[in-house]
Amino acid sequence: MKITCPLGCLLAGALGTSFGLNLPAAPAVHDYPYRLVPFTAVHLDDLFWAPRLETNRIVTIPYAFGKCEESGRMDNFERAAAVLRGENITNRKPPGFPFDDTDPYKVLEGASYALAVQPDPKMQAYLDHLIELIASAQEPDGYLYTARTIDPQHPHPWSGVRRWASEEAGSHELYDAGHLFEAAAAHYQATGETNLLEVALKEANLLYKTFGPGTNQLHLWPGHEIVEMGLAKLYRVTGDRRYLDLAKYFIDMRGSYPGGDDYHQSRIPPVDQTEAVGHAVRAGYLYSGMADVAALTGDKSYVHAIDRIWENVVGKKLYITGGIGSVPRIEGFGPDYSLPNRTAYCETCAAVANDFWNARLFELHGNAQYVDVFERTLYNGLLSGVSLDGTKFFYPNVLESDGTQGRSPWFGCACCPGNITRFLPSVPGYVYAQQGNTIFVNLFAGGTADIKWNNGRAIKLTQETAYPWDGAVRITVAPDKKSRFAMAIRIPGWARNEPVPGNLYRFADTNIEPVTLNVNGQPVPVKLDKGYVSLKRSWKSGDVIKLNLPMPVRRIVANEKVAADRGRVALQRGPIVFCAEWPDNPGGKVRNLFLPDDRLLAAQFEPALLNGVETITGKAFSVTRGEDGQLVKTEQDFKAIPYFAWANRGKGEMEVWLADSQSGAAQP
Ligand SMILES: [Zn+2]
Repeated sequence: MKITCPLGCLLAGALGTSFGLNLPAAPAVHDYPYRLVPFTAVHLDDLFWAPRLETNRIVTIPYAFGKCEESGRMDNFERAAAVLRGENITNRKPPGFPFDDTDPYKVLEGASYALAVQPDPKMQAYLDHLIELIASAQEPDGYLYTARTIDPQHPHPWSGVRRWASEEAGSHELYDAGHLFEAAAAHYQATGETNLLEVALKEANLLYKTFGPGTNQLHLWPGHEIVEMGLAKLYRVTGDRRYLDLAKYFIDMRGSYPGGDDYHQSRIPPVDQTEAVGHAVRAGYLYSGMADVAALTGDKSYVHAIDRIWENVVGKKLYITGGIGSVPRIEGFGPDYSLPNRTAYCETCAAVANDFWNARLFELHGNAQYVDVFERTLYNGLLSGVSLDGTKFFYPNVLESDGTQGRSPWFGCACCPGNITRFLPSVPGYVYAQQGNTIFVNLFAGGTADIKWNNGRAIKLTQETAYPWDGAVRITVAPDKKSRFAMAIRIPGWARNEPVPGNLYRFADTNIEPVTLNVNGQPVPVKLDKGYVSLKRSWKSGDVIKLNLPMPVRRIVANEKVAADRGRVALQRGPIVFCAEWPDNPGGKVRNLFLPDDRLLAAQFEPALLNGVETITGKAFSVTRGEDGQLVKTEQDFKAIPYFAWANRGKGEMEVWLADSQSGAAQP
């Protein structure tokens, strides 16, 4: 199938190549004003991300496919296909969860991103085989949902007796479709092949016929959002306006009739919502979908809504790790300032959703405050979701452990491993952005980027840095021809005495070491506009920007309204949040520690620890009970490690927010 794309320039931009497709250049009327430089144009070769991405590519992706096979997720497609061929199958048991189909979709998406950067014929052949299998389970009219097809008379108990009848109650039919669309767009962009895209479009066309604006057949809102983002991607890939209209329709159905609830963000229409409520992954996907539709349609009412909701999250509902969701029972948001640490939910998927959303808000507004939240989440509450060896995962990411939490090789509900698998290969795509004749440097990571201007001119950037361990960044600028443009360098909030926008957290001290910036050795004033220093000048090949972000160890305190963090401090250095973990502290206990404010702390790099991490050391006190039953305060060595690296050495105590006096330390 040949795709003709009226959004040719968008697609070519997103791909960095047209893949030989017929792509007429007709610009979209509306889109994000600030565009991320696609991950395919950015190559990281640093010591932090490059090894993590390689572990994801060569270990986690094959491992996750193996787990999908082992747990029967591929077999579900096989059995559905056999039923469609009219075969009499003996095992008609429905999948464990009605959304089990999404796990192979997510890993397929991650594998596609990885393929786009690093060809791998064996993996590509595996994907082609998997796509054939998925296609064979699709019903003739496009419906694809093994939880029903395997045994339409006795579908999964959550699936309802008829197609879509239980969508709002949890059938996840549209959730499955959404992940299929995301995977299909990624696979098409990565390989230029249309085999999965054809499957996706067939289902998208069925959705349009079933729900499409004007068809008036069925009115409902998706029980678990993501189909909105998926449809926006199909619109980008094909230029077919129906997919965008349908994405908007699904958003607008929420809260448009009685019966909705906060858990599903459907009690009131999204445009009227002011607070983050309900299931956190659903919420993050909804806000991301709203951003996409707002960008592509120019609908400002969505933007006003997600801006208000964002203020609510960063001001009242965000963990210091960037995690969201504080109520395990609903896997979601609690009341303002309710951020318990031991029972924090902070689902890995919710961190991914939070980053999708914040990246999109940056693309709408061009403000570095969204990148600040993105970066905090990425390096802390998101990256903690996968072990250093790439084969063990967290579902919730707590901020305090009594030793009962450990990583798992997989889950019955396996949403999180697939999500981190698909997110990591796309990380290079968040480093740079473009708008007009400005290039934004959003993240700091060593590597190269090949950026194209609209007029066909090219510029190569080379970034050298040991970030996040060292704040010295050197960027070599190489335009193909001397020309005038702006390099907008983000000065992270953490380097400006602002851990996150708003007053939920603040540094306990003021860092007086200044951020410095120079171009070709000449100092440049650090004058901020929306969190960036804009270096507007005539650039020639070989020009060098040097940025230095001092990285002292900082203590963070939370707003007094956060009861769980009162009398406590968190430690941060650069973008990294630290925690005390059992193997590094005397007696394997950390919850009985307290760290007075006047204790000096030092940072050092330990190459042999946890694949090489910076650690923080100093003296703290422990509280124990003596033989006479009295509490004994003992001064002892203290060590903290990056939060993302905890739980790689077995189960034991861990704490992010440490008491700063004896009264706050856990009693022995
Ligand atoms: Zn999850």
